[in-house]
Amino acid sequence: MVMGTLKEYEILILGGGTAGIMSAAFLKKTNPNLKIGLVEPSNKHFYQPAYTLVGAGAYNLKDCIRDEKDFIPKGVDWIQDYAINIDPSSNEVELQKFGKVKYQVLIIATGITYDLSMIEGLKEALDRGIVCSNYINPEKTWELLQKFKGGNAVFTQPTTPIKCGGAPQKAAYLSADYIRKQGLKDKSNVILAMPGSVIFGVKIIAETLMQKVQEYGIHLKLGVAPIKIDNDKKTVLFKNVLPNENQCVVNEDPKLKTHKIDENIIEMPFDFLHLAPPQTTHQFLKDSGITNAQGWVDVNINSLQHNKFPNIFSLGDAAALPTAKTGAAVRKQVLVLLDNVLNYLSGKAVQNFGYEGYSSCPLVTGYGEMVLAEFNYKNEFTPDPKLKQMLVFDSYKPHWRLWLLKKYILPYLYWNKMLKGVKV
Ligand SMILES: Cc1cc2nc3c(=O)[nH]c(=O)nc-3n(C[C@H](O)[C@H](O)[C@H](O)COP(=O)(O)OP(=O)(O)OC[C@H]3O[C@@H](n4cnc5c(N)ncnc54)[C@H](O)[C@@H]3O)c2cc1C
Repeated sequence: MVMGTLKEYEILILGGGTAGIMSAAFLKKTNPNLKIGLVEPSNKHFYQPAYTLVGAGAYNLKDCIRDEKDFIPKGVDWIQDYAINIDPSSNEVELQKFGKVKYQVLIIATGITYDLSMIEGLKEALDRGIVCSNYINPEKTWELLQKFKGGNAVFTQPTTPIKCGGAPQKAAYLSADYIRKQGLKDKSNVILAMPGSVIFGVKIIAETLMQKVQEYGIHLKLGVAPIKIDNDKKTVLFKNVLPNENQCVVNEDPKLKTHKIDENIIEMPFDFLHLAPPQTTHQFLKDSGITNAQGWVDVNINSLQHNKFPNIFSLGDAAALPTAKTGAAVRKQVLVLLDNVLNYLSGKAVQNFGYEGYSSCPLVTGYGEMVLAEFNYKNEFTPDPKLKQMLVFDSYKPHWRLWLLKKYILPYLYWNKMLKGVKV
């Protein structure tokens, strides 16, 4: 793009991650004449679902990263820049380097950003390599796990929505398995501390996970969230976050060496700490007046069309969709988006209200096994009938074939089918 020119696209997509590239690919495949612009600052495209395996030494990080240019569909204009403002009243997006661009339809797919400031001491802890996160640097997780020789191994997550809600507990199961295999189980306490009141929202999956918790001897602490990391003492402070409870659910425990700071806060020492950072949308979306009160892009949860601005759509992590934020969810969302964007552009009413919240969480429960949690807005278990072709009939239980799905088949489908606009 030439500096200062005001280009107009039929469809402008913000973000060229999972949701942005899939949207561009499906749209272009359906109608090659569409004039599409895609704003994405990064040279690289990241397959984040495999980060969990990288953090356990079971996958190479370099295999999760490819060149973005190889996935921009033919005929789509890649604008390598950051969007910094949206003006829905004039159908314009402002870019950091290239100025303003006009759109007829805007698709917002800028994903999530991390807000480290929400946990005191977290930034310093990450900078100093005292704590680790598969979300930020999965290779560090693997490095610290190998250095762990016993004590408290703590796995936790914040109260904000996070991408792939199951990822923090996958790290816990893989690490517990690793610790057991290293013969360190008797010297270690694996602690899984989560803000929710149940381990997983889908009952049949929760039952399986509770069995794994028992099998590994994991100390499960529900209803707590991390609020502070003391980097010198190597402790983490947890706050009780369950409503209507006025007592700390993690009591003083000599085995874990925890002690109460007050009625609602407990301090826990750690020898290893993995956490998901607090997560939110990018500030420019909030400043553009298109987000809901919680900061997510305010779309109809079944059609993905914006609730106020009919020519704006959103999918993926940035959208206000009350389901787990995963690439698997995008796989279904993109088909609804495709219908609705094309209808809108041809002057018809948006008719597809078919996204029912499908998401899926591949819960790796140990080396060589996985549970596949597939569900909808109602938290109903909705296993894909295609799993039967893989001879998997009970995907709510750990299965070695599902591990193969996670490690080999899903990355293949992602790079070669989903990002190329092929329905899988
Ligand atoms: C540790 C971990 C484990 C996960 N495990 C799984 C799993 O097992 N299964 C699964 O399905 N999903 C998993 N996910 C989640 C999955 O990766 C995301 O849900 C998915 O990538 C969402 O797609 P997206 O396009 O919304 O966001 P992203 O893929 O993150 O893409 C957002 C894009 O927007 C770009 N962007 C940001 N700001 C701007 C801007 N201002 N202007 C323009 N572009 C911008 C970014 O550079 C990025 O390329 C996991 C994620 C993590 C971190």
